[in-house]
Amino acid sequence: MNADDHPRTPPKLGGVVPFSSCDYPGHLASVVFISGCPWRCHYCHNPHLQARHKGPTTPSWDDTLAWLATRKGLLDAVVFCGGEPLAEHWLPQMMQDSRALGFKIALHTGGAYPARFKQCLPLLDWVGFDVKAPFADYEQVTQIRNSGQAARASLQMLVESGVPFECRTTIHPALHNLDSLLQLAGTLAVQGIQDFVLQPFRASGCSSAMLLQQPVPPGWPDTAMLARLRQLLPGTQVRTH
Ligand code: SF4
Repeated sequence: MNADDHPRTPPKLGGVVPFSSCDYPGHLASVVFISGCPWRCHYCHNPHLQARHKGPTTPSWDDTLAWLATRKGLLDAVVFCGGEPLAEHWLPQMMQDSRALGFKIALHTGGAYPARFKQCLPLLDWVGFDVKAPFADYEQVTQIRNSGQAARASLQMLVESGVPFECRTTIHPALHNLDSLLQLAGTLAVQGIQDFVLQPFRASGCSSAMLLQQPVPPGWPDTAMLARLRQLLPGTQVRTH
């Protein structure tokens, strides 16, 4: 449980997107944003969701659930994202509530809370797992010491669970280079992972002067870089949207 959470504190939602076709591949989903994240990634484009408090105008979970009940047959799934949705101690219950309505459940996470992730795994149909960097270098991205340890533990559990997932990494030349990405790809390959999505940094919402002052060069990562990565992870692809 987070230090600022009490067992009777209701879920802290940061927003709800009623309809999305791109947050759970191949599925139409409603997306529930959870407020709160223990990390401070330089490239974060949702910094307003880092603080652990409910938005003043966001709906309650009870209201959201009542609305979801009206979407049965119209949507396939509910996607939980953030912030870091694992910061929410009600998350497993929220997943059970959504599943009871007949929806599939997807989660976008960086794996910051392995114990809660373990509780969620049996309830999940798909996970988008954000890998920040080689685990030993996480602090360079998250600005939080030892954050890679939690991520490593969560990814290990995810691989062993058999739940379908995607590993993706937001990249910026100030944070990543060919060597660090090869190191990361090698770590994922050892885990038996073949698919790897690189997401070049987008400036929207980001407040980091360090990143904004160094634009991503057009065409980066280049073809030679991708060829090297694909030697380790043949399914490596670049997603630009
Ligand atoms: S883990 Fe996600 S929400 Fe948290 S700071 Fe990093 S990018 Fe932002």
